[in-house]
Amino acid sequence: MKAYIYNNKYVLDSADIEKPELTGLGAIVRIIGCGLCGSDIVKLKHNKATEGNVLGHEIVGVIEEINTNTGFKVGNRIVSGHHVPCYKCAYCRNQSYSMCSEFKSSNIIPGGFCEYIYLSEKHLEDSALIIPKNLSDLLASFTEPVACCLRAVRRSCIKEGDSALIIGLGSIGLLMGQVLKSFGASVTGCDLLDERVNLALGLGFDEAYMEIPNDLAESFDKVFLVSGNEKTIPLSLKYVRDGGTINVFASVESDSIGFPNNEIYYRDLTVFGSYSPASLDLRNALTLLKKGLIKVDELVTEYPLDNINQAIEDTVSNKIIKAYIKIGS
Ligand SMILES: [Zn+2]
Ligand SMILES: [Zn+2]
Repeated sequence: MKAYIYNNKYVLDSADIEKPELTGLGAIVRIIGCGLCGSDIVKLKHNKATEGNVLGHEIVGVIEEINTNTGFKVGNRIVSGHHVPCYKCAYCRNQSYSMCSEFKSSNIIPGGFCEYIYLSEKHLEDSALIIPKNLSDLLASFTEPVACCLRAVRRSCIKEGDSALIIGLGSIGLLMGQVLKSFGASVTGCDLLDERVNLALGLGFDEAYMEIPNDLAESFDKVFLVSGNEKTIPLSLKYVRDGGTINVFASVESDSIGFPNNEIYYRDLTVFGSYSPASLDLRNALTLLKKGLIKVDELVTEYPLDNINQAIEDTVSNKIIKAYIKIGS
């Protein structure tokens, strides 16, 4: 089958690899499409993937073969998370599922940017979901990224009427804002690119700026740092109110700014990270998408699998916001 694989370069190579086989429990899924995630790009940029790997995890597909006790059937159109936690270890007992060693070592096989994957029985039990009929493939591919946002928002303990600031209006920032609106928060966004500021306003953000006005300093209950640029760390501290919360939701190239100990201590701030969703968040994300509460039309550009390197280039150069790789039907 056709796949695009990582070979220690900044581009993916086209390859003919073996189609996964069903030898025990689980399913073979024909991939319809897969979103290109910021984390795929970070892996490429910083050589964090293993040679020969197939990247991609925001999959939409159809079950083609199955041997399961779960009730899924051949022909079901599904989305699935890529990792499954054990639900037994200390991390899992404290809801830090993404830190569980079983979570980290489980995966869809071989990855999303190819024609077929193997989904284990555990994936079917825990994180595969049937896509409602009225939801398009493309919209359904946003289940995992929306679930990532939902987990961050849920863990921020947001309440109706809270004010939230999102720093960085890439695809995650624009999704996070819409998720926050669904919780009844008032949402402000900021980004250096004016077209993204306008897009945010069009998607229902209450305010959006290229430069946040100074008089809003220390006024936000929650700040979501999703820019991936360490220069925005001081901004998050400037605009969060005393006693407020900062969510760190992006990796940065270097940690040279360091940990602002005294500011966090004297201002009674809560700072937390949020990494990868739990199955509860996947389920709730699909519900939000089904209800039409998340708009993606203006965020996403579709590319055929053979143009995946163009999709990567266009994402990195900020020409587009989010790429959806169309693979089959
Ligand atoms: Zn993702
Ligand atoms: Zn565990």
